[in-house]
Amino acid sequence: MKGDRKTGFGTRAIHAGQAPDPTTGAIMTPVFLTSTYVQEAPAKTKGYDYSRSHNPTRTALEQNLAALEGGRFGLGFASGMAAIHCVLNTLRSGDHVIAGNDLYGGTFRILRTLYDKFGLQTTFVDLTDLAQLESAFRPNTKLVMLETPTNPLLRCCDLAAIAKLCKKRGVLSMADNTFATPYLQNPLALGCDIVAHSTTKYLGGHSDVVGGALVSDDEALHKQLMHFQNSCGGTPGPMDCFLVLRGTKTLHVRMERHCANALLVAKWLEAHPRVERVLYPGLPSHPQHALAKKQMRAGGGMVSVELKATVPQAKKVCSSFSVFSLAESLGGVESLVDHPASMTHASIPAEERRRAGLQDGLIRLSVGIEDADDLIADLDRAIGKLK
Ligand SMILES: *Cc1c(COP(=O)(O)O)cnc(C)c1O
Repeated sequence: MKGDRKTGFGTRAIHAGQAPDPTTGAIMTPVFLTSTYVQEAPAKTKGYDYSRSHNPTRTALEQNLAALEGGRFGLGFASGMAAIHCVLNTLRSGDHVIAGNDLYGGTFRILRTLYDKFGLQTTFVDLTDLAQLESAFRPNTKLVMLETPTNPLLRCCDLAAIAKLCKKRGVLSMADNTFATPYLQNPLALGCDIVAHSTTKYLGGHSDVVGGALVSDDEALHKQLMHFQNSCGGTPGPMDCFLVLRGTKTLHVRMERHCANALLVAKWLEAHPRVERVLYPGLPSHPQHALAKKQMRAGGGMVSVELKATVPQAKKVCSSFSVFSLAESLGGVESLVDHPASMTHASIPAEERRRAGLQDGLIRLSVGIEDADDLIADLDRAIGKLK
């Protein structure tokens, strides 16, 4: 079949989970705007009974994402946070979680302000340091949650090594693969148990939908996650599934351009006199460049840059772009700029932020797929405001 496991990434992106509609031949998966399904006799269905449980547009997306991540089972969610919430539901009171210390803010928040009060213990460690991970394990540790590259410092964690340490102890590992995407990195192939995604970002790719997903390869684990997906009900509507499916069809092509543009931008920034440091896994100067080369196909579309600037100066630069737009989020075709200290990471106290390596002058770029020359000219103009 077109898009099966033996075909290349681009073929899977376009065809996996998406046979033409059998009743009409429609080449695009229909948007099944229906809540219920007529049964031939009580409990005799065509595989669908209620759209929270299953919907054919969602099934197509779930199969497509599973094929891209190289797992057998995919689950769609209404947001990335709903997907991460589902993973946390596998735990019980008294369990212990080890999480990266620069996880996505929403993941940090759900652990700190929600699961904390249900008696879940979490230790945040620097997962780029395997010794820190090893010493954080406790007898009741059940889950390790990681991101690589991280946000906004773009640090890389060794997926294979972390998965191995977890397996040895019977601890589940969950990798949030939102920044890298399945085109650049496949955590399941490196031994992780669950891959989580905010499909809002590169998978959707056009800044027009919020969604999330989980992919796994173990049937018992998948059944448990699917039980929570249906029980808690944080499922995506069919239109949202359609939009993400439309996005994944071009993921490989978009990522090539995101990565090429980001590398050009990163190299240009590295040579700029007002730049203290460029953080980009694709640059040889990146502290985990060798690891990034080993586990990623390319450096990705995100570039963080530490300007020699105070908070007001960095804010001024961020307000001076004309091609880049000042906005949170990432992964769309258009370039975005974010000032973490005053936007996405403002809720972290300034001292704690600086201790974690997030300087006041750091700006985060989601490099889009416009023409690189225009992006560099825009950066030149905006950073020129520092003079
Ligand atoms: C955006 C994001 C999330 C949360 O996803 P939503 O779709 O906004 O709920 C989780 N992890 C990472 C790495 C993200 O960038």
